Amino acid sequence: MTTSFLGSKELRARFSVIRRVLPFAVFGAVLVYQAISVFFLRESSAVIHYLADLIAYGIIGPLAAWLAFDWITQQIEERERALAAKARAEAEQQRAEEAAREQERLLAAVCANSADAIIGLDNQGHITAWNRGAEMMFGYAGEDVLGKHFKMIVPPEIEARGEMEWLSEQMREAGFVRNYETERIAKDGRRVIVDLTRTAVQNARGEIVGSSAILRDITERVRTEHAIQQLNLELETKVAERTSQLGAATEELRRRNSELERANQELQQLDELKSDFVSMVSHELRAPLTNINGSIELLLDGDSGCMQPEHREMLQIVSEQSQRLTRLVQGILNVSRIEAGQLVLQPQAFNMLSLIERVIGVWESRGVSNRFERPRGMNLPSVWADRDRTEEILFNLIDNGIKYSPDAATIRVDAEANGQQVIVSVSDKGIGIPDEELPKIFDKFHRVDRRDASESYGHGLGLYICRRLVEAQGGRIWVDSVLGEGSTFRFSLPMAGRGEAERTGSGRRQTVGGRR
Ligand code: ADP
Repeated sequence: MTTSFLGSKELRARFSVIRRVLPFAVFGAVLVYQAISVFFLRESSAVIHYLADLIAYGIIGPLAAWLAFDWITQQIEERERALAAKARAEAEQQRAEEAAREQERLLAAVCANSADAIIGLDNQGHITAWNRGAEMMFGYAGEDVLGKHFKMIVPPEIEARGEMEWLSEQMREAGFVRNYETERIAKDGRRVIVDLTRTAVQNARGEIVGSSAILRDITERVRTEHAIQQLNLELETKVAERTSQLGAATEELRRRNSELERANQELQQLDELKSDFVSMVSHELRAPLTNINGSIELLLDGDSGCMQPEHREMLQIVSEQSQRLTRLVQGILNVSRIEAGQLVLQPQAFNMLSLIERVIGVWESRGVSNRFERPRGMNLPSVWADRDRTEEILFNLIDNGIKYSPDAATIRVDAEANGQQVIVSVSDKGIGIPDEELPKIFDKFHRVDRRDASESYGHGLGLYICRRLVEAQGGRIWVDSVLGEGSTFRFSLPMAGRGEAERTGSGRRQTVGGRR
């Protein structure tokens, strides 16, 4: 303590000095006063003597006594204050020590009950402290391990690897080892993966007297991490496998694609070659066929009974077959022209009713057994289309109606205005078309598969050509049919005076083109 403290011994010493000095001081003072009276106040009056006595005994004497007692009182008070301060300081120190002890108790309790294993070791590695966490982690009670070397919980292969020496070296160099992952062995042989923190412990003089080891059980965490790593690895392998499979598949696809493109190009070239060939052959066939047909007609017309009936019959068969061949050649020529974009349309305004009348007239003049029903309405707006091609469409539809109906069946042809269009229909009471065939009926070379197909001659080109011609003129063609009851084919064409084509100039030529 640094406060001025007056011990009782010191106080006693001071008081004993005063006890001895005070009588001599009083005696000395009286002696000095008497000497002064004898030598200096001998001649003075009684008043002076009286005053001098009064000053000496009445003032200086009591003042000296008062000073002496005041000094003693001060000394005693100072001592009392010092004693009280000492008592307060001692109480303070006692409280601080008590708090420190409580703190230590708490810390000890925390360490003792920590879930982490906290182990105290001396400089030789012997266990000096073993908390509850260590008991639970390794299965040894404190009394089983205290004083024993900590290598009892180190697995042999880790000890052989020199871990203990490495730890000691680290402790010497740095004074601690932090978050070191290693393995320890429990009493039942179970391996515990731990996170180890070891710190040197010093005594009050700063000498290293041992170390503390805190071990946290991270077995579960490490196992989970390993499992996740394993899963990641498997996943990566799978992704790599799939990626390479995908790459191979893409490569294969690319190869197939280029093969297909090549094949497609070859097919297109072949197709073009075929079209050129077909067109060339058809041209070459058309001229001789026209000559043959003309000659046969001349022969038949010029016969005035001199020809044998069987010869005439044979000539008629030749004529029919030749006409079929001509129709086929014409059809093939039309298709190749359409697909080559060479079929030219010459749209114009014309009356559909008179065209219908004309086509029916042609059929009637051919002497077919069928009866024809004509359109009932008398007024119909003109259509804007190629007249010859429209005649061809109509001719084809009536031809089919006749072909696919019983002999002498009625064919009804009608026409009506609908919005901006004129719709022409050709109905028969013939064999009809199965539902599943309807979507394909306008495809090129499509013929309905029938047992009796051989009976009706055809090539599956007529409806395809009709569709291409109708669509090229801004119209549409469709069919309603009931198997065994008959069919109605309808096509629409734009009315004259409404269409875009017409506004751009009468008779403007346009081509039908492309493969579809
Ligand atoms: P084809 O020269 O074979 O008659 P089309 O293109 O004109 O060729 O007709 C295609 C197919 O549609 C025909 O083979 C026939 O089976 C069917 N078909 C066409 N018109 C009719 C119809 N009016 N009644 C029944 N079937 C028809």
